[in-house]
This record gives sequence, structure tokens and C-alpha cells, in this order.
Amino acid sequence: MAHTPAATVHNHSIGLQWESSPARRQSIQNFDHAAEILNLDPNTAARLRRPEKIIIVSVPVRMDDGSVEVFTGYRVQHNDSCGPYKGGIRYHPTVDLGEVAALAMAMTWKCGLMNLPLGGAKGGIEVDPLALSRDEMQSLTRRYTAELLAVLGPERDIPAPDMGTNEQIMSWIMDTYSQHAGVITPEVVTGKPVELGGSALRKEATGRGVVYCIEEAAREIGLDLSKATFVVHGFGNVGSVAATELAARGAKCVAVADVSGGYINPAGLSLEALHAHLRRHRTLADFKGGDRVAPGDVLTVPCDVLIPAATGQVITATNAPAVRCRILAEGANAPTMPEADPILLNNGVFVIPDVLCNAGGVTVSYFEWVQGGMHFFWSEAEIDERLSKLMRDAFHRVREFARSRNVSNRMAALCIGIARVDRVMRRRGLYA
Ligand code: GLU
Repeated sequence: MAHTPAATVHNHSIGLQWESSPARRQSIQNFDHAAEILNLDPNTAARLRRPEKIIIVSVPVRMDDGSVEVFTGYRVQHNDSCGPYKGGIRYHPTVDLGEVAALAMAMTWKCGLMNLPLGGAKGGIEVDPLALSRDEMQSLTRRYTAELLAVLGPERDIPAPDMGTNEQIMSWIMDTYSQHAGVITPEVVTGKPVELGGSALRKEATGRGVVYCIEEAAREIGLDLSKATFVVHGFGNVGSVAATELAARGAKCVAVADVSGGYINPAGLSLEALHAHLRRHRTLADFKGGDRVAPGDVLTVPCDVLIPAATGQVITATNAPAVRCRILAEGANAPTMPEADPILLNNGVFVIPDVLCNAGGVTVSYFEWVQGGMHFFWSEAEIDERLSKLMRDAFHRVREFARSRNVSNRMAALCIGIARVDRVMRRRGLYA
């Protein structure tokens, strides 16, 4: 191939502050490392380091007391070479552009790794969802959707739930989009309730996928899950489902954490008691079944399987030496900082990286989009079988790459995802 000079990137017109956020730095550092392993063409790398489109919107909301608050919302569309942009929407007080851009990029690699005909995007609003009433939440969601109408669509960009968002929020997005389009358009979002054209098992999909990966990892390292102990950091949709699935396999939950705190019990926490508490309260605050510690403290509780399933950047160079698990199953996006990776590797921790471990969510989102498009819905058993197969296949492709190239599981997963996007981009060429 003829030699092509490296791309020149003109950055100066974009505010650079977000480029230095920890989440953005983490995703770029990992990407650069993977690009080096792949010997990726520098021109492709220059394109992939940046999102294709960044949208920042002001979202004014009339609050219950009559006042107006203006929130900041984002949608970052990283890459749509393989298909329409796809990715969740996060409502959290620490959401910023750097984080949304990092998560959008991760979606591109996730869809690439899983071979889905979808690209990568992410959205978010800087807001504390626990502080809003239902009406305020609805107004916020509808106005955010209205501001993004031009860039969303079943063949353009398809949101889904992420931290702080759920089926109800997806329903409001679907309704707002449909009202404006003048035609019912369920396929504009995934993670909808089943009665609105959602898919069986979408809610459980991420947690189940995490556990399918853990089963494959346990088999490889000779860990009997029915005798294993585990810890879950984050008891939301991902963490609680993974915990329930592991407990059903006989494993013992020795610590959990959510925003309210960490709860440790070496004799085992009852999943029924945790779920019962959550049905009555919004968080685990005042849960009596274990000793209370700070949420981050559960990450260093000795166990066989540790599942970070909350925010990102929680395993750092500081606490990584104290992490005492055999398998680290990244249910959350981006829980581990690049500086922590060599420490975990040195300590013999088997890392199931986020783009693989939590890919069950977007995989069943893809199933939901396909089922919606053909107006024909599969049974729970069919979806579970397809999900299990795709997750386990991806796990073994990652292990095979890691072994043959002598790289970490994280690098293997990223390389497979990036390589697929690279192949597609080469075929499509650069439109000028
Ligand atoms: N928010 C989830 C993720 O980070 C799911 C995305 C989707 O289903 O599109 O993978």
C-alpha cells in the first residue's frame, strides 16, 4: 500500500477542557494502547480518537414549585460506520462531556466486538434523578428528547437505559419522538417495557451477560461457583440481577454497596432481604443485614468474584493493590483506571473487561430493535439462548486473541472491536 502521511488534527477550535477529564483520558489511553497492538493506520486512529458529532443542549424544566431550572444534556455520536448510533442515556450528577464521549467510544467497541450492525453513541444529563419528582423527570426527558429530535431515529441513533434511567424514561422518549413524527415509532429506543414493544429479558440482559462471562472465566480458572463468594459494588439494574443469578448458582454474596453505603456480611447477605428492602425504600440505607462501611470499601473485601456495577473510575492505582478477588467482572462501564490494570494483572486477577462483560445489555437491545422492525417477538427462552451463545462466543474470541497475542483481556476485547470498525471504514473509504 502507498505510504500515506499521518492525519493532521486541528483541535484548537474545540474547548479542550473535556479532553482532560479522567474518563476521556482513560478511554484514549486504552484506545492508543490497542491501536499500537493492532498497528492501526494513524489516519484511522486519528478519526477514531474523536467523536463524529457532539450535541450539547439546554434542557429547561418547570419544577414542581413553579421555578424553572435549566439542565445540561449531551448526546455524543462516536462512530456509525457499522450501523446507526447506539447507546444509553445516563442521568447522574457527575455527567460531563468527557465522560459521555468516553462512554460513546466504548459503545463503538462493544458493538464491534459483538458484531452488531450498530455504531456507538451515548447521552446524558447532569442531574440527580433521586432529587426529581416523577413529573419533573418526565418534563426533563421529553424536553431533552425534543431538543435531540433531528439526530435521533430508528435508522439514525437509538438510545437505551443507562445509569439513572429506566423503562419509564424510555417510554417517554418513545412517546415524545412518536408525537413529533406523527407515527408510532417504538424502534427509536430500546429498553422499553414489553407492552410498548420492548423485548423479553432486556431488563435482565446486562446482569445475565455478566454472569455468563463469569461462568466461562470460572471454568477456565477452576473455580466452583456453587462454593464461591462474591461482592457487588452498585445494586442497580446490573448489579442486582448479576447478584441474584450468582446466588441462584449457590454462590454467596459477602458484600454489596449502593449510593447509601456498603454492607458487609462474611456469613452471606440474603438477596431476598436486599430486594425486599429496595421494594420499600429507594436505596439500601438502613439495611440491617450487614456491617455498614463506605461504598468504595466493598471493593477490597476478599472474595472470589468482584463485580463493579456502578460508576466508572472506581479501581485506581491506590486501591488496586488491595483488591482481593480471583475474577473481576466489569458490569459497570470503565470501572478500572489504566494505572490499575498492571497491578491487577500482577496479582493474578482474571479481568473480564467492560466492553465484553456488560455487552449483554446492548446485545438484547439489538434483539429488541430487530424484533420491533419485523413486528415479531421472540420468547424469553429464545432470547436467553441467543444471548448466552453470543456472550460465550465473544468471551472465547477475546481469550483466544489474548492468548495468541499475549495481551490482556482488556486489550484483546478492544482490539477485536476496533479491528472490525477499521475493516468497515477501509471498505467504505473517506468521503471527500
Ligand atoms: N447503557 C448500556 C451500555 O452501556 C446499554 C446500551 C444499549 O442498550 O444501547 O451498554
